[in-house]
Amino acid sequence: MGQSAQYEQTIALPLEFSGVGLHSGAPVIMRLLPAPAGSGIVFRRTDLDNFEIAATGRNVAKVSYATSLMRQGVLISTTEHLLSALIGMGVDNVIVELDNLELPILDGSALPFVDAFRNGGIRTQRRRREVIRVLKPIEVREGDKFIGVYPGSGYNICYAIDFPAPIGKQDVCVDLAAETYGTTIAPARTFGYKADEQRLRDMGLIRGAGPENAIILGKHGPMNGSLRFADEYVRHKVLDLIGDLALAGRRIEGRVVAERAGHAMHTAMVSRLLKDRSAWELAWVNVGDAADEARMAPPMRGGSMREAAVLGL
Ligand SMILES: [Zn+2]
Repeated sequence: MGQSAQYEQTIALPLEFSGVGLHSGAPVIMRLLPAPAGSGIVFRRTDLDNFEIAATGRNVAKVSYATSLMRQGVLISTTEHLLSALIGMGVDNVIVELDNLELPILDGSALPFVDAFRNGGIRTQRRRREVIRVLKPIEVREGDKFIGVYPGSGYNICYAIDFPAPIGKQDVCVDLAAETYGTTIAPARTFGYKADEQRLRDMGLIRGAGPENAIILGKHGPMNGSLRFADEYVRHKVLDLIGDLALAGRRIEGRVVAERAGHAMHTAMVSRLLKDRSAWELAWVNVGDAADEARMAPPMRGGSMREAAVLGL
């Protein structure tokens, strides 16, 4: 079963990860637990009396360098890589226990999560999966930064970046319905410029960063080993985008185009999309023969009110 499965999925077994947060440098143990159908992705701070924060748009905290969730002053930081892996691999329901404020950065990609899901197994549940089907275009522009979502079948993402040398211009399009996430997107690592390192360290923004969890860029290319893909940088931006758009509460069915965007633009899109109730509908996922059935029998409107609350409207 993959991410376009007709039914919701959870992990078959509890999974544990430990490491440090990229930004805080804080040591953390993270446990992923199977969760019942319909429960979504819920974070739990075990160091704060099991305080829970759902991964939804209404709990997004405003920061520019990573995507974080906040509720009643409690923070869960740098959620995007795990959320990306969950959406990418089709895990709908999971409890994420953390004993600190930031998720572990691991190797800077989503591959350790994907490997763990593959090894531990993914279990199908007895509930039809719903997606956010885009019905009309929504666009957010800020200077030369742009992100737009458009109607379309499957989940297609095109991303273009233009970074200072040695990255330059890169663009990539991926069709996540082709279940390529695990091999084409998940392994792409986060990156940073050596020239910025001291300034960011002085600001306390990259206390956990090191050559084991980020591509460190010198004038002519990576200073710590070779790339996993020639266009690893733009692939990582796609990884981040999938994780940030996961905060819409469901996988999106549509086409996403992003140019020079970042976490702030990604989460701004989530807010814009959720607020414009005419721009989308909750619909059952279209899979082969189920396509006609899904079009003819969308989820009841009565259900939508409750879903609206889940989505943070
Ligand atoms: Zn990232």
